[in-house]
Amino acid sequence: MVELLHALLPYAIGAGVDTRWLVIQAEPEFFQFTKRLHNLLHGQPSGGAEVTEGDRALYERALQRNAAELLQEVSPQDIVIVHDPQPAGLVPALRLKGVTVVWRCHIGVDRPNDVARGAWNFLRGYVEPANAYVFSRGAYRWDVLDPSKTAIIPPGIDAFSLKNQDLDAESVMAILTAGGIVEGAPRAATFNRNDGSQGRVLHRARLLQAPPGPSARLVVQVSRWDRLKDPAGVLDGFARHVPQRTQAQLVLAGPDPVAVADDPDGAAVFAQVESAWRALPEATRSLVHLIGLPMEDADENAVIVNALQRRADVVVQKSLAEGFGLTVSEAMWKARPVVASRVGGIQDQVVHGESGLLVDDPGDLEAFARAVISLLADPERARRLGEGARRRVARSFLAPRQLVDHFQLLSRLTG
Ligand code: UDP
Repeated sequence: MVELLHALLPYAIGAGVDTRWLVIQAEPEFFQFTKRLHNLLHGQPSGGAEVTEGDRALYERALQRNAAELLQEVSPQDIVIVHDPQPAGLVPALRLKGVTVVWRCHIGVDRPNDVARGAWNFLRGYVEPANAYVFSRGAYRWDVLDPSKTAIIPPGIDAFSLKNQDLDAESVMAILTAGGIVEGAPRAATFNRNDGSQGRVLHRARLLQAPPGPSARLVVQVSRWDRLKDPAGVLDGFARHVPQRTQAQLVLAGPDPVAVADDPDGAAVFAQVESAWRALPEATRSLVHLIGLPMEDADENAVIVNALQRRADVVVQKSLAEGFGLTVSEAMWKARPVVASRVGGIQDQVVHGESGLLVDDPGDLEAFARAVISLLADPERARRLGEGARRRVARSFLAPRQLVDHFQLLSRLTG
């Protein structure tokens, strides 16, 4: 979501809209609860499906404090876009003040189950008063909300951001060697920050073994360490099937787990993947790299992700569930061949066989590995799929399209 706002807001400001971005503050228990709520909206009962009165009291207490501050900042002429379940409880207070409110929900489930419906019931009373509800895809619409107030706006990426801007092969190598992600003598890797100053890749990634060599073929997944991104499944599918057929190596990269304080599950998921990695036979283990990307400098992190996605021979996103999956559009924009699960917003981005390959069942490790191997074995097809991918993102998933969709909605609301 942060990524999405970074892509969208500069365009809104450039178009002359006075735009602010406010972030709620709360105690760790609030974020633990909203993380669980997030999973419930995905239909996943991790940490218990039941939302208790105690949870509700915790949620409302935290948001009451935030609402008091927010109401000082806004007036009835403003439009506030409230994102996702975390701040949804702010909607009623804003509406009472006469502010136009859009609630934008980035998460959802392909086929809502009782778990997801339980989360809808918890949130419904908060979001209902909003003037409009925006979902990332049609399937995520809540049938308990007024359909005439519901709009669908898929996310998009910013082609000019540090994460996505063009990099030549030499810069890619310089960035990855400076970050310690690919073997080689570190070279100066500089980049231009958005504020015009020059940045430099100074921090090194955290690795468990020597990095891949400069000419290794790489299969790459870049994601938060999250169960729903299934890094353990990627490792397992790769380790079981790919090394017998190709020399390729696997890179699983995500935020350095030591550095991410606001993601309580991240360290636990990383630890689980690490122990699966330690249990691999030595020869396979040397082909699998778990990489914690430096988080000290967001621009540096973005440039490293950009370079790593560009360096990948195949990008994978084997999520079990996915709201949209920006990493997929990011890789597609870089003309990478993608193998991804046919879940959530990923299936809106990738047209199977034209702009990447979709695996129908994310639990089918063999099918996943087969798709990866097929692309490694046929570079010409991989190249064609990569080009199809870039065209598809250019047409449908860049920030200006998202901006126009928002303007159309907001002018209808304020019309
Ligand atoms: N990302 C990043 N550094 C990392 C891991 C992920 O910048 O170490 C970015 C990734 O490039 C993408 C975003 O975080 O822009 C993740 O968005 P996505 O929709 O793929 O998944 P989410 O994390 O929102 O579930």
